[in-house]
Amino acid sequence: MNRFEWMEPASLESAVHGLGPRARLLAGGVDLLGEMKDHIALPERVVNLKSVSGLDAIEIGDHGLRLGALVTLDRLAAHPQIRHRWRAIAEAASSVGTPQIRNQGTLGGNLCQRPRCWYFRSEEHKCLKKGGDICFAVAGENKYHAILGGGPAFYAHPSDLAPALLVLNAQVRIAGPGPRGRGLRLRTLPLAEFYRTPAQRLVGGETLLSDQEIVTEILVPEPFGDSTYLKFRERLSHDWAMAACAAQIQISAGHIKRAQLALGGVATIPWPVPAAARALAGQPLNQATIEAAAHVAVAGAQPLRQNWYKIQLTQTMVRRAIRQAAFPEKADFVSA
Ligand SMILES: Cc1cc2nc3c(=O)[nH]c(=O)nc-3n(C[C@H](O)[C@H](O)[C@H](O)COP(=O)(O)OP(=O)(O)OC[C@H]3O[C@@H](n4cnc5c(N)ncnc54)[C@H](O)[C@@H]3O)c2cc1C
Ligand code: SF4
Repeated sequence: MNRFEWMEPASLESAVHGLGPRARLLAGGVDLLGEMKDHIALPERVVNLKSVSGLDAIEIGDHGLRLGALVTLDRLAAHPQIRHRWRAIAEAASSVGTPQIRNQGTLGGNLCQRPRCWYFRSEEHKCLKKGGDICFAVAGENKYHAILGGGPAFYAHPSDLAPALLVLNAQVRIAGPGPRGRGLRLRTLPLAEFYRTPAQRLVGGETLLSDQEIVTEILVPEPFGDSTYLKFRERLSHDWAMAACAAQIQISAGHIKRAQLALGGVATIPWPVPAAARALAGQPLNQATIEAAAHVAVAGAQPLRQNWYKIQLTQTMVRRAIRQAAFPEKADFVSA
């Protein structure tokens, strides 16, 4: 780990102005410290967001749910009203890592964590994502990589919370420097517009955040139906998704009135699948409808040499997530 200056900002404004091209923001530190220990990140300054008060609230009001960026994953997993009304969030949070990671890791950090591609995490490999001129995954080990949204890089986006929040139509609130670099500018946008594919942004982060911007809050409206998050991982004890599906579904008289689906672990960004949602809307809830949605969910997939299995696995996750969201009373809660 390199030597760096440690900054404890007393306000959001100081945190924003403490950031820049040579600084990094730290929340729980689970991901960032790993990057620093592996010499992937060499910041000259680390800005501790935890010293800013008021960013760890969970509020439920008339317009839905407000989650501060510093809310920890274990609080999301355990919150009774979130488990009941925004179930996909609680299930996604409870599926992350180990109890220690959920206790330390925050919502903002989970959404902004960097790729797990082993070439990215290896100091010896200067790949495209780190400003080099080759993606080692193309001809190398690509079992865990993306089948959707790839090119020129193919890492799979690692966040479990993002697909769950996508199907719940979450918005993200962002603070950055104001006009002429003074004060604060706040903006709010749909989470669906927050992420960038490698074709849109290769070096740097996987979101539209500039190096001085901070996620402050996630806003989640009242759900229109029941939701769920289903994840397949190699190690049950703690692992990122090999394939995951989040679903929100509203059923009326045996028909699907409205649906939203998103995939995790198989694309370079959390991957909404509006075509699958359209295949469900207005249809009777039966095997043929579920098959049609599973089929279109992976349309356009371009697997690499070692990850063809992800097509079938994703379709299985989609089928199961639809059933689990449609019949929540029959599903087992994936508890922490
Ligand atoms: C062994 C292990 C297993 C894991 N398993 C999973 C898993 O199964 N699923 C999963 O989704 N994740 C997993 N993670 C990844 C991740 O560390 C956690 O999900 C955690 O949520 C990260 O949160 P943090 O607050 O510690 O982030 P930090 O490490 O503090 O930050 C992560 C990144 O986000 C940026 N950042 C943090 N907060 C903000 C903010 N508010 N605004 C803008 N940028 C911000 C930081 O600058 C940094 O680049 C795992 C990590 C480990 C080490
Ligand atoms: S997938 Fe991305 S992070 Fe991995 S080697 Fe290729 S360019 Fe680097």
